[in-house]
Amino acid sequence: MGLVRLLGFSTLSCGCVVGRYRELATNRELAYIEEKGGECLVHEHRRNHAVQAPRAAASASRFTHARAS
Ligand SMILES: [Zn+2]
Repeated sequence: MGLVRLLGFSTLSCGCVVGRYRELATNRELAYIEEKGGECLVHEHRRNHAVQAPRAAASASRFTHARAS
């Protein structure tokens, strides 16, 4: 992994927390599992494992809002 910039964190529906990063060299968006959800059954979701970046920041804030209420 080259030089990256942290964009933010998102909580997936399975409970895992992913960190979203911008790889400066390629301008690609990357996502890594930061915290495994306690009830997550997705085998690919492992700590520090790359995953597909969540679609949009809007859905991430919707998750956050749902968790807060
Ligand atoms: Zn998960």
